[in-house]
Amino acid sequence: MKWYQLDVEKVEQKLHVTSTRGLSDKQVNERRKQYGQNELESGKHTPRWLIFLAQFQDFMVIVLLAATLIAGLLGEYIDAIAIMVIVLVNGFIGYFQEQKAEKSLDKLKELSAPLANVLRDGKWEKVSSRDVVVGDIVRVNGGDRIPADIRILKSNSMETEESALTGESLPVMKHQAAIQKEHLEAQDQVNMGFMGTLVTRGSGIGIVVGTGMNTVMGQIASLMANTKKIMTPLERRLAELGKILIVVALLLTALVVVLGVLQGNPTYEMFLAGVSLAVAAIPEGLPAIVTVALSLGVQRMIKKKAIVRKLSAVETLGTASVICSDKTGTMTENQMTVKEMYLNGRNLYVTGDGYDIRGDFFLEKNKVDRDYQNLETMLLYGMICNNASLLVKKGKHMIDGDPTDGALLVAARKLGLKEMDGERFNIIKEIPFDSDRKRMSVVIEDENGLRYLITKGAPDVLLPRTSYLLGNEGRSMLRTEDRNNIVNKINDMANKALRTIAIGMRPLKKNESLDEAFLEKDLTFIGLFGLIDPPRKEVKSAIAECREAGIKTVMITGDHVNTARAIARNLNLLPENGLVLEGSKISQMSQDELIDVIDDTYVFARVTPEHKLKIVKAFQEKGHIVAMTGDGVNDAPAIKASDIGISMGISGTDVTKEASSLVLMDDNFATIKSAIKEGRNIYENIRKFIRYLLASNVGEILVMLFAMLLALPLPLVPVQILWVNLVTDGLPAMALGLDKPEDNVMKRPPRNPREGVFGRGLGYKIISRGILIGLVTLIAFMVTYQNNPDNLVYGQTVAFTTLVMAQLIHVFDCRTENSVFDRNPFENMYLVLAVISSLLLLLVVIYWPPLQPIFHTTALAFRDWLFIGALSAIPTVLFGFKK
Ligand code: ADP
Ligand code: MG
Repeated sequence: MKWYQLDVEKVEQKLHVTSTRGLSDKQVNERRKQYGQNELESGKHTPRWLIFLAQFQDFMVIVLLAATLIAGLLGEYIDAIAIMVIVLVNGFIGYFQEQKAEKSLDKLKELSAPLANVLRDGKWEKVSSRDVVVGDIVRVNGGDRIPADIRILKSNSMETEESALTGESLPVMKHQAAIQKEHLEAQDQVNMGFMGTLVTRGSGIGIVVGTGMNTVMGQIASLMANTKKIMTPLERRLAELGKILIVVALLLTALVVVLGVLQGNPTYEMFLAGVSLAVAAIPEGLPAIVTVALSLGVQRMIKKKAIVRKLSAVETLGTASVICSDKTGTMTENQMTVKEMYLNGRNLYVTGDGYDIRGDFFLEKNKVDRDYQNLETMLLYGMICNNASLLVKKGKHMIDGDPTDGALLVAARKLGLKEMDGERFNIIKEIPFDSDRKRMSVVIEDENGLRYLITKGAPDVLLPRTSYLLGNEGRSMLRTEDRNNIVNKINDMANKALRTIAIGMRPLKKNESLDEAFLEKDLTFIGLFGLIDPPRKEVKSAIAECREAGIKTVMITGDHVNTARAIARNLNLLPENGLVLEGSKISQMSQDELIDVIDDTYVFARVTPEHKLKIVKAFQEKGHIVAMTGDGVNDAPAIKASDIGISMGISGTDVTKEASSLVLMDDNFATIKSAIKEGRNIYENIRKFIRYLLASNVGEILVMLFAMLLALPLPLVPVQILWVNLVTDGLPAMALGLDKPEDNVMKRPPRNPREGVFGRGLGYKIISRGILIGLVTLIAFMVTYQNNPDNLVYGQTVAFTTLVMAQLIHVFDCRTENSVFDRNPFENMYLVLAVISSLLLLLVVIYWPPLQPIFHTTALAFRDWLFIGALSAIPTVLFGFKK
């Protein structure tokens, strides 16, 4: 017998579990031991030694090693060995950094791993999908990926999309009844749900019958391709830059060697000079530091509750110029409370806060109770046409499920209605809520076998389907006058920022068809609920901060236009002459018409997910970089189309998370702002150390080139240059990657996405500082060498020290686009420490006798330091004042 052929009870028996309690912790542990984790086996991990070797496959490192080898063959053993050691140490550092970056990416993966809703020991809890075991009772909702193969126990109009398995993209309706046929293919087993397939509609409960590789998906995907690391645009651009630098280095080397030999110098010496130049031109440490800066930035974002799913988002975030954000749950708390009701043509006020079940109903100043006409009916219907449940946690009432539904449960409880009051009715059919329909219905049967339809949803959606009105005198035709009254009431409530829900019903005939297409019509209007959903308190200032940063915030919501407008005004999001567009309008507009008004529009109300796509495209047409949030099943296309797709960690569905590049762990709009700020900062920090490293390289090349043109001996030997590039530059560069943002990061417009790495004057800064660093190093060398022509090592030591010192002073200039004196140098303690350690290492190389022959150094006197100090401060001080 196959699982689909068994009755639900049989399945439970066989797996030793009941659908009301689920597995016990003990059972779960045993089964996990027996069957292992619920995972598809992925490709093997790269072995460590390969990662280590990969550090040396870089083309520039190979060139360097080859040159070293030749130098060694030519008899320069000490130099060759020193260079080898430095390259090896650099390889180790790169290896450890890569390991660390990988670990932080693994952590990211863990944080964004899908969760499953399972029933264990009688309680619903969320666990990582990996921890699901055979026999677990799981619940899935629209937008979820099914975590394992399940036999359906209960289907609320559940539909799934199984194209990953079957190639068929039409949704399949799921049932719970056993099927007798033999040898059914997966697509015909309609009482089964399969791992990795998507719930597109409705919801369901199932019992896990297969996990991990023992699933249909597991059989197909017995080996999943190893996911390759994708470079971010910046990493790619830097890799290209690296290639250009190599070409430049090789050309320079060739030029010098040929020129030198033509001038009559020995070939061997010229070759050494060429190698030195090549070393000088290439920023060996740069790629590793970029990777580290990105991965550290990602970790900082996690601390701020933003999970980056695609590394490239770190860069793109800094370019965002529009944030399109959901209102409900992202800008607001998503904690709904019924504040007002409208029934029998009168207003009732409901007291109480949040999901606390204490509260009463008031008609003007008088408390009313069950005897108030239709009140109980309306609350009861709201409770039955509902998917949430009320629970008590730590003595406080909480809800599980949709907050809108939850609020109606709490309101019913305030009148004393309990779950069992609803159990008199049998729910025969449910048409689920979704953001397109904006309503939900159930068909119920009472103890006398009478059937009703109950519909609850957006009032302006329900009204056109309404023909009758329930009032004090029972049911009557809905006259135009009544209709107008209701519309006025809806507007009233919405103007007070209340979310409105209408309740309607229709008695059904005995054997009336339950076809969805014909059910929700000729309704009897019962009443309106007005729900408050307070704005999150951080959002107002976050929107203001974004505005200052040149980023426009746009609210998108399925709510009523007046509700949306009222909340937008509250949050200071909607300016005096800002437009509010309704979904129905957007449908009528052509894309061009939408583009015309999009820049003046701040609020989109009563939209459906398709509108979101149209909105993203319109903003992009206008040249904006769009960040777009979403949580529902149908939001995925808009999220994908946007430049930065953002999904919700708590309320989001699996599909939206998969489509997004950023997940908000707390669903909070303010977190988007923090992520953007962090994104801008990371990019600026990367620019800072690129500026620092390249200025150093420019300086090194120039000092060598000038010396050659002046027919002087080489001021620096290769091992010194390599030392500067890797050791003296590496530590401070890394510290620059950890720098705090400048005060104005969020006070300037977003970066132009087409701007190159060297944009905004960075190229000029690199070259101008580089020239000066080269010049002062050359002067230091020339003066010393001229006075001591027979002590070349002394001159080289002074040049080497001047270069290092000039860099270590210049590093503070790199922290700002403005004057170096604007920023407190002790603000970044990492940098201070890095500079001090670089200095100490320099002293070791100069003064420790065993290292002197290796680095071609000699001890310096105090007055040398005065001379060097004065010279090396020149580049920074000269440019430090005027900006
Ligand atoms: P948003 O999430 O942007 O606030 P929704 O699409 O969820 O918008 O809701 C749109 C409208 O649908 C709401 O204004 C409300 O009237 C109605 N609605 C929301 N949730 C439910 C629900 N669970 N059942 C019935 N109607 C609902
Ligand atoms: Mg919603």
